[in-house]
Amino acid sequence: MSLPKREPILLENALILNPGEPPRRANIYIEEDRIAGLGSESYPKHGVVVDASKYTVTPGLYASHTHLGLYPVSKIIGEWVHLDEWAEKIAWKWEPHLSPEDSRDAAIMAVYDYLSKGIVGIADMHFNMDVVAEVVYYAGIRGNLSVAIMNKGFYDNEWKALKDNLELASKWHKKDNGRIIVSLGPCTIRLVSKELLEEVARIKREKNLGVHMHVAEVYDDEKYCSDNYGVSLIEFLYQRGILGENTILAHGVWLSSKEIELISMFKSTIIHNPVTNMLLGSGIAKIREMIDRNVNVTIGLDISPTQNIFDEIFAALLASRLRRAPISVIEAYRLATINSSKVLNAKIGAVKKDYKADIIIWNTRSSRIEDLIVEKPKPYYVIVDGRILVNKGEIVSIDRKEYLKAKTRIMSRVEEVFEI
Ligand SMILES: [Zn+2]
Repeated sequence: MSLPKREPILLENALILNPGEPPRRANIYIEEDRIAGLGSESYPKHGVVVDASKYTVTPGLYASHTHLGLYPVSKIIGEWVHLDEWAEKIAWKWEPHLSPEDSRDAAIMAVYDYLSKGIVGIADMHFNMDVVAEVVYYAGIRGNLSVAIMNKGFYDNEWKALKDNLELASKWHKKDNGRIIVSLGPCTIRLVSKELLEEVARIKREKNLGVHMHVAEVYDDEKYCSDNYGVSLIEFLYQRGILGENTILAHGVWLSSKEIELISMFKSTIIHNPVTNMLLGSGIAKIREMIDRNVNVTIGLDISPTQNIFDEIFAALLASRLRRAPISVIEAYRLATINSSKVLNAKIGAVKKDYKADIIIWNTRSSRIEDLIVEKPKPYYVIVDGRILVNKGEIVSIDRKEYLKAKTRIMSRVEEVFEI
């Protein structure tokens, strides 16, 4: 793996689809990590020049909740109807075996596949995160990384997990001019203690780190909180000092209107994972209500079997209709683009002057987001932070041979562990 060098890039006559704006044609000029010019004027041609006239151009797409270590087992659809059943049969079987080499192989496989689908940034929470950070760094994508802090499975001691998370932060936080950031990852209310959460809140304040946590994915999370602490889950997090602008909360299926109001008040982010929520029978999050109450909502892949962001956007649309509280195509598109800027702490999610140069040139000439969601085209070029990571359809930051080796190794581990 090697991080490609930057050079000036000129995309000529591109058809740009920004969230919430009519399609427009323009030349895009990239210098260093940002879009230095955008318009009908001509720009210098002293670097890479791409004739983009026959392609659709969008901002990069971001998955705000992933577990790269679980990527190799995400295709196991199973027959479960509860998160705990899936965890018993998959997570607690798979995760304790993961060596750093396994996590590296899983991360290479996942990031390579993500790049081939136009996913250019992730908020990932798992184990052996130092090697995951290395893969993210050399692959050139954006990352908000945290250790899944818990007292079960991979870790039997939550304090050891917190220590690993802090080591990750001291090594990787704000790396490569902020392309990689580190958050604290208390996994979920049922797998950490009150004391641990209080310490996380203290460190969050002291070091100004973000928090990435699963909340109210299943009703049991809320019940656990009211049984043990006498308040709702979000009230509990608020009282402990966990909420804030850099707090990102995955799922939020069982949140009450009062809890949604608190999240809005503290400007925290909800990460919608509609495919996983349906796959595990968890329920459908109240995305319409959250958007109407000015909650920043993004989208994640979690353990979705296809791990495709277009499938997830489509599922978000369908799930909202099942609730009879629909979101629009543009709103769904925003979840994977502009709304992700808070998660990755960068000016991203639109192809505009002075935004970070995270751009995808798709192998299609559609002028409607709907078409992209349904067609799921392949990227022709992927540019992240001003670097070309996919060039004429070929991934250049991860060697294909290295990807195939990693995939073969990790998939044979899946066969061993699950005897399939
Ligand atoms: Zn998750």
